[in-house]
Amino acid sequence: MLSINKVAIGASIALFASSVAAHAGHGGPKPGGSKTMNVHKRASNTASNYQAEASITSTAEECTAYYIEEVNALASAYPTIWTIASIPTADTYASSVFNAMSSGIPNIAPRGTSNGDFSGVTYDTSTDPDCWWTQTGCTKPKAAGIPDDVITCPEAKTWGLSFDDGPNCTHNAFYDFLQTNNQKATMCYIGSNVMDWPLQAQRGIADGHHIIGHTWSHMYMTSLTNEEVFAELYYSSKAIKDIMGISVEAWRPPYGDVDDRVRYIATQLGLKTILWDNDTDDWEVEPAGDLTQAQVEANYQDILGNVSSSHGTIVLTHEINEYTMELFMTEYSKIQGVYSHIVPLTACMNWTDPYQEGDITYPNFEDYVAGTTMPSGSPTTFTISSASYSPYQGGGSSVVAAEGLATGAASSASSSGSKAKSSSGSSGSAASASSGSSDASSTSKSSASGLTKPLAGIAAAVFGGVAFVIFA
Ligand SMILES: [Zn+2]
Repeated sequence: MLSINKVAIGASIALFASSVAAHAGHGGPKPGGSKTMNVHKRASNTASNYQAEASITSTAEECTAYYIEEVNALASAYPTIWTIASIPTADTYASSVFNAMSSGIPNIAPRGTSNGDFSGVTYDTSTDPDCWWTQTGCTKPKAAGIPDDVITCPEAKTWGLSFDDGPNCTHNAFYDFLQTNNQKATMCYIGSNVMDWPLQAQRGIADGHHIIGHTWSHMYMTSLTNEEVFAELYYSSKAIKDIMGISVEAWRPPYGDVDDRVRYIATQLGLKTILWDNDTDDWEVEPAGDLTQAQVEANYQDILGNVSSSHGTIVLTHEINEYTMELFMTEYSKIQGVYSHIVPLTACMNWTDPYQEGDITYPNFEDYVAGTTMPSGSPTTFTISSASYSPYQGGGSSVVAAEGLATGAASSASSSGSKAKSSSGSSGSAASASSGSSDASSTSKSSASGLTKPLAGIAAAVFGGVAFVIFA
């Protein structure tokens, strides 16, 4: 197993009931430190569309700031990039969406700081009332009406490929590499990066990758107020819609920091929560980080050495800088040597319609591994505008249930993991097991059907649980 103690969060966490190892800080760099803030200090340069930007081969030139008037025009309706999101006063629609869900949000207080300092926070990890992943690794919500987190791929010897923290301005060589290998991945884009590097973001969807959100400013989400959690999710989704033309239906929490309060708000916005079950800690590779390349390669090797014959894996890797991308390219042939399939999470989950836009269809597992890797109907031309982004508003859990997605939750308790669907009339559901863990009982359930997007007006879930977070 990989070490999970790679990040000093600057404080110890007081636990009064258990010595369960904290996951705190796992999954990415601390906020703020290495992020760039470029969007509105940009001068003009020659890049005018994503194809032109994609053709640049010099990383310095890729990361030369560019100015796009349409993005600039959008910005006033958004929170400030790389700051904790809140709802701009003028955005009455967003306020109405938030107000509509407010009464159902579990009564769990924010804790710690936005950069992951949980010193002084006490939490009962033995009962884990809030299913706080950061403390216990919990992926099966305790509160009602929230689907399990997605953490693994059900198919054996399958590497679910996901890259966090993009779009990074240096990604052309990496995206070229993926294209050359006919390889798609799930790209977890930060809203502020999408605003900063809109042409790089557009390339991601045009290349056929699967896009999910990774919040607006990449903070520890459990530290934020309800409105901030909402705004982090809402405006990252809206940026992806306005700039890339797609309405995402999933997100990944920065650092994996999620509890039932955060999950509930995400669910109400129609966003499935996707974590991972293997972590390369690649973001810490030098020279940007503190691990030698050999150390991170050893992490990759650990994953390769622990391949399961009963299920696959979702691996956390990063698009955060050129070093993490180069390292993946170095490792790719080794992964191919051990894993039978390297797939985006759409194929991993047999999820063929991962956006609200119903005319975009991704290949299911069977079709993907047979060589059809490109989705159909995904955007290849873009008009940047304040599109009428409209989240599901309460339909998230219904969508998850209806689509019957595999969650791969590891805990055997009260499994609600559902069997991967065979959709779009394709034969052969790839996922034959519903659970990713060898000790988990396989439970599948029939899917509801006939849901039409978007699903406004679905009743909010009822919560019976009461949180008891204690601050020292
Ligand atoms: Zn991240």
